[in-house]
Amino acid sequence: MLELPDRGPTGSTLISLQGGLSERTYEAEQLIGVDPADGKPLLARYDLAAASTSMTVANLADRRAGGLWRWRELLPVRSWEFVNYMGEGSTPLQRSRGVATMTGLTNVLVKRESLNPTGSFKARGMAVAVSRAVELGAKRLVAPSAGNAAGALAAYAAAAGVPAILIMPTDAPMANQVEVLAAGGDLVLLDGLISDCARLGRVIADQLGAFDLSTLKEPYRVEGKKTMGLELAEQLGWRLPDAIVYPTGGGTGLIGMWKAFDELEALGLIGPERPRMFSVQVEGCAPIVRAFNDGQRFAAPWENATTAAAGLRVPAAIGDFLMLDCIRASKGAAISVPEQELRPTQMRLSSAGLGYASLETAAAVAALQHLLEQRRIDRNDQVVVFDTGAGFKSEPEQLTMPVPVANDPARWDEVIATRTRVV
Ligand SMILES: *Cc1c(COP(=O)(O)O)cnc(C)c1O
Repeated sequence: MLELPDRGPTGSTLISLQGGLSERTYEAEQLIGVDPADGKPLLARYDLAAASTSMTVANLADRRAGGLWRWRELLPVRSWEFVNYMGEGSTPLQRSRGVATMTGLTNVLVKRESLNPTGSFKARGMAVAVSRAVELGAKRLVAPSAGNAAGALAAYAAAAGVPAILIMPTDAPMANQVEVLAAGGDLVLLDGLISDCARLGRVIADQLGAFDLSTLKEPYRVEGKKTMGLELAEQLGWRLPDAIVYPTGGGTGLIGMWKAFDELEALGLIGPERPRMFSVQVEGCAPIVRAFNDGQRFAAPWENATTAAAGLRVPAAIGDFLMLDCIRASKGAAISVPEQELRPTQMRLSSAGLGYASLETAAAVAALQHLLEQRRIDRNDQVVVFDTGAGFKSEPEQLTMPVPVANDPARWDEVIATRTRVV
């Protein structure tokens, strides 16, 4: 059985776009970036009454294949012809004994986004945004990226047969640079942060007529990421957990899930209860945490942002107010973890059986301890922590632990003698 049709209407119920701040309404059948009124993000609006007729619990249960495209009524792509499905979405929500032991939480679940194509949840956003941009006539795509977004965009652009220019900091993980080139992406590096890359991206977009897929500077990456929230509700039997802990950079994950919950409630699939949303950043780049603590709705740019977790090295986020609004409305919080906790937590996670997780995932898991200490979560709460990406994407250039090199058979005795015999 083929998983998805290759032509014909998807059944999308997209009706309009709405300014996230201005709340003005715009026509959705146009290739558009930000809200022309204020330069803030645009959000997709659907005919939820129409969607509710086909999105019933039973009907959804019958849709076994197709990953995130199972949620087609709530996605913007109108024709299957533009969908290039690589397996994105439908990731497992797992009980992890390892994370439970590490944290003392009794009911902790891990959403395994690292199992997406290209090894991170960025695939969800790019799968949807690239399809929709090409459907609306984009002939060339451009995006700045600190890492995984570039790999995902290059992959989906290749699948769509559309050229893409990716602008990354020179210190972006090598694995991400390589995967862009492997997919035939046009890679440009510059010494600076993702915000510097974004400036060049805008010039390229203007001068070469490329469509800019920067985080929340077009309306549809967040729609792809929203499907994490849709899946979560379904996987928990149409209810939501007590808390969600999410490593945050540009914020599409948090914003998308929060939007998903509102749409599910309008469809009658869940009630008004919401999880507390916890945004996790690293001390070397924590603009959302600072704004949260200072009671600000907009976050001032972070100076000299540093963290090895590339996905969290986002000094200024255009969706800051959307993140802060949802964190506060949910009675959650934004918290930062020390950089020194990332690598050790990554190692502990791997040895606790989660696989080789990303530093961003490690940040989220490290935050659990702090949230427990601050009594923001209780050890018996149902907590969902997001494993947003695979560790392979951000491995250090050199091994950080001593490992013997056994080329010379004369040294084998020594290697063997320093290991104990299994009895
Ligand atoms: C991009 C990224 C994040 C941050 O996600 P946002 O939705 O941009 O806040 C977290 N983890 C990984 C692995 C990422 O690639």
